Amino acid sequence: DRLVEAAADGEDRAVEAALRPKDLGEFVGQERVREQLDLVLKAARARGATADHVLLSGAPGLGKTTLSMIIAAEMGAPIRITSGPAIQHAGDLAAILSSLTEGEVLFLDEIHRMSRPAEEMLYMAMEDFRVDVIVGKGPGATAIPLELPPFTLVGATTRAGLLPPPLRDRFGFTGHMEFYAPLELQRVIHRSARLLGVEMEEAGAAEIAGRSRGTPRIANRLLRRVRDYAQVKADGVVTQEIAAQALQVYEVDARGLDRLDRAVLGALLKLFGGGPVGLSTLAVAVGEERETVEEVAEPFLVREGLLARTPRGRVATPAAWAHLGLTPPGQGST
Ligand code: ATP
Repeated sequence: DRLVEAAADGEDRAVEAALRPKDLGEFVGQERVREQLDLVLKAARARGATADHVLLSGAPGLGKTTLSMIIAAEMGAPIRITSGPAIQHAGDLAAILSSLTEGEVLFLDEIHRMSRPAEEMLYMAMEDFRVDVIVGKGPGATAIPLELPPFTLVGATTRAGLLPPPLRDRFGFTGHMEFYAPLELQRVIHRSARLLGVEMEEAGAAEIAGRSRGTPRIANRLLRRVRDYAQVKADGVVTQEIAAQALQVYEVDARGLDRLDRAVLGALLKLFGGGPVGLSTLAVAVGEERETVEEVAEPFLVREGLLARTPRGRVATPAAWAHLGLTPPGQGST
């Protein structure tokens, strides 16, 4: 229930469908992936063929699902959406694959979390459009080959390196999604505001963009909270001031840190002079579990260059002191 969490919650799912760009032209940012994908799809269309399998890697909320839907739309094909964890047995995958129609796009989110037997079945399906369905058990079991219509697999993963090389190699194209620049997020926010009927000033969008951690999903979520505030406390127009006030209420600071992030950073600076300090000590100091500090708070602090993990413990960077408006020991003003 963190406002700056990159994974989707129930409310996100309910509104995201309406906010999804429908074609590559509407999709903001990711210039390289967009340009490369545009070529892949145009070439396939020109050949009258099904597009190559596509692997999309990147952090949650950067638009992998959206892009897979755009691929299907651009190819004029239907799309089936499932995920690695939903495929427990090879049979689950066989059932999905055998019901695909020609040219259909199969979106497999968290593809690195598929079971091993399913993964092996996928190799053959991707390469030869064929699966062996095992009928019976033990010595009497037989493999019945089943032809599949050509389809396009779009796999999504947080890191391409998590995939076994044989699986990775079977994708014709791999796109790496990057975090978005503030100006790109500003465009995402403007677009979403228009779709939601929110009156938004340029500076208001910039204020939200700066706090969105490079992630469109977070930008859209913050926009909804700012909209609420603007409606209740003002005339509904999102100015820079209104956006800043609203996000202060929700404890998301100018750089996108929330209460937990600031507590961790604050303890590191105020109690331990900026470190180095061990993870367990830091966790006790903020009253959280080790895992919460390590997995929930630290990744963004490291990414922002505010905290470093060293062999001797956690260390704050000069940017951390500046961000919290504190002076490092021994550098007091004269
Ligand atoms: P997850 O891996 O958690 O499923 P994801 O990478 O698949 O996340 P999406 O569900 O595609 O992310 O996108 C999250 C939200 O962000 C959607 O509402 C989508 O409309 C918006 N979004 C993502 N990328 C863009 C973009 N480039 N332009 C505009 N909106 C975007």
